[in-house]
Amino acid sequence: MNDFLAQLAAIVGPQHLLTDDIDTAPFTLDWRRRYQGAPLAVAQPGSTQEVSALVKLCRAHRVAIVPQGGNTSTCGAATPDASGRQLVVALRRLNAVRHVDTDNNALTVEAGVTLQEAQQAAEAAGRLFPLALASQGTCQIGGNLSTNAGGVAVLRYGTMRELTLGLEAVLPDGRVLSQLQGLRKDTTGLDLKQLFIGAEGQLGLITAATLKLFPLPSAHATAMIGLADIETAIAWLNRLRDRFGDRLTAFEVMDANCQQVLLRHHPSLMPFTAPWLVLIELSDGGGAAELNDALVRWLAEQDMLDGVLAQNETERRKLWTLREEISESQRKDGPSIKHDIAVPTSALPRLVRDCAADLDKAFPGVRIVAFGHAGDGNLHYNVSFTRPGNADLFEDEDAVNAIVYDHVYRLGGTLAAEHGVGQLKKDWLARYKDPLALELMRGIKRALDPDGLMNPGKWL
Ligand SMILES: Cc1cc2nc3c(=O)[nH]c(=O)nc-3n(C[C@H](O)[C@H](O)[C@H](O)COP(=O)(O)OP(=O)(O)OC[C@H]3O[C@@H](n4cnc5c(N)ncnc54)[C@H](O)[C@@H]3O)c2cc1C
Repeated sequence: MNDFLAQLAAIVGPQHLLTDDIDTAPFTLDWRRRYQGAPLAVAQPGSTQEVSALVKLCRAHRVAIVPQGGNTSTCGAATPDASGRQLVVALRRLNAVRHVDTDNNALTVEAGVTLQEAQQAAEAAGRLFPLALASQGTCQIGGNLSTNAGGVAVLRYGTMRELTLGLEAVLPDGRVLSQLQGLRKDTTGLDLKQLFIGAEGQLGLITAATLKLFPLPSAHATAMIGLADIETAIAWLNRLRDRFGDRLTAFEVMDANCQQVLLRHHPSLMPFTAPWLVLIELSDGGGAAELNDALVRWLAEQDMLDGVLAQNETERRKLWTLREEISESQRKDGPSIKHDIAVPTSALPRLVRDCAADLDKAFPGVRIVAFGHAGDGNLHYNVSFTRPGNADLFEDEDAVNAIVYDHVYRLGGTLAAEHGVGQLKKDWLARYKDPLALELMRGIKRALDPDGLMNPGKWL
C-alpha cells in the first residue's frame, strides 16, 4: 500500500493527498452524522488528467473509489466504509468555470464548482442557472449531477437531468468520455450522459458539465399563504398553474409541526401559523409591480386563512430564509426518521392523510414534520415519537419505513425523489424497485465497472 500511496502522491501532489486522521476527518462523516467511515486516504486531484491517472492506478491496485463533492448527501452516498481500504476522491480542486456561451445559453463548469458559484457565473453573464437548494453554498455540480438534484425551482425548470446539455466523465478504467458540446438536439445514438446523472458515483467520476442557462427574471412575486389543509394546497397549485402557466416557479409547503420547529429556532421570521403554509413564487421578465399586481388580484379571489406578500427583495429573502432553514432547524430539534418521497401531485393529499393515520395507529402520539416541494409531489417527511424508556428511535426505523413506503408505492410513488439512495435506502430500493429495472441497471454497472471499484457498498 505504501507504494500505491507514493504513486498517488506523485499524481495529485503530496499536499493534496491526505492520510492523517485529523486531515481526513471532514470527509469521513456524512451531513446527518449517521455514517462514519475510515478511508485509506483522501485524494484531491486538480484536473481531469489527474483523475484519469488516479483511476487507472486504483484499478491496477484494486483500490475502491468513493467520489465526494460537497458531502451534503443526506443518505450516506459519499461516505466510505469503515474498512480503511477505500479511497475518497474529493473533487473540490476541479473548480474552473471553463466557458460561458451566452448565445447558446450554456455554461461549462468543472465538477468541483459549488452550485452557488455556478449560479454566480451565470448571473455575471446576465443569465440564470435555476437549480436552487438550501445546501447550494457547499454542494458541488458533480454531486448535483450524481444525485439528479431537484430543489425549489423544479416546477418550472426541471431537475439536474433536464438542466444538463453534456458532461465529461472518467470511466472506471480511466478513459475520459467527453461530451461537452452543448447541443440541444442530437439523435446519434444513446444519450450516454444520462447514465451518469443519478448514478451516485457508481459508474464513474464526473469531471465537468455543460449546463443550460435561462434569461434572468427581472420580477418576482412571492407570497406565504395559510391554508386549511393539503387538499386546498393542491387545488391552489392547479389553479395557479392554470392562471400563471410557467411563471409559477415555486410551490413549497410546510405542515403545522414544521412551523413549530421554525418558531422554536427562528421566531422573529415566522409571519403567522396555519394548518399548512404555502410559499408561492412567480417570476417573469417584465416589471415587478405588474407581476405583484397580477398575484394580488388572483389572491383576492381566493379563500385563505392568512397571507403575506413580499413587498420588496428583503421581505422576499426573509420568506425564503424560513424555507431554507428548515433542515438545519430540524437537525437542532433532535432525531427523526427521514423520508424524501414523491407521488403524483394528485395523490399527495391521500398520502398525507392515510400515512399519518396508519403511523398514529402503530405509534400513538407520533409527530410528523412534513414540508417540501409540493409542486413536484415531493415531501420531506420526518417521523419521531418517544419510545418507552426513551429507547433509541431508530430501533423502530424499519417499521416506520415499511408503513411510509407501502403508502408511497401504493400511490405510484418513489422512496428517493431528489436526495438519492446511498446507503440509507439501498435495502428498501431492492424491495420496492421493479426487479427488471434493477437487473438492467446492474448489467450496465457490470459492463462499465466489472471490478466493482466505483463507490461500492451503495445501492448498485
Ligand atoms: C440543508 C440541505 C438541504 C438540501 N436540500 C436539497 C434539495 O432541496 N434538493 C435536493 O435535490 N437535494 C438537497 N439536499 C441534498 C444534497 O445537497 C444534494 O443531494 C446534492 O446534490 C449533493 O451534492 P454534493 O456535492 O454535496 O454531493 P456529495 O454529498 O458529496 O455526494 C453525493 C453523491 O454524488 C457522488 N458524487 C459527488 N461528486 C461526484 C462526481 N464528481 N462524480 C461522480 N460522483 C460524484 C457521491 O459519491 C455520492 O454518491 C440538501 C442537503 C442539505 C444538507
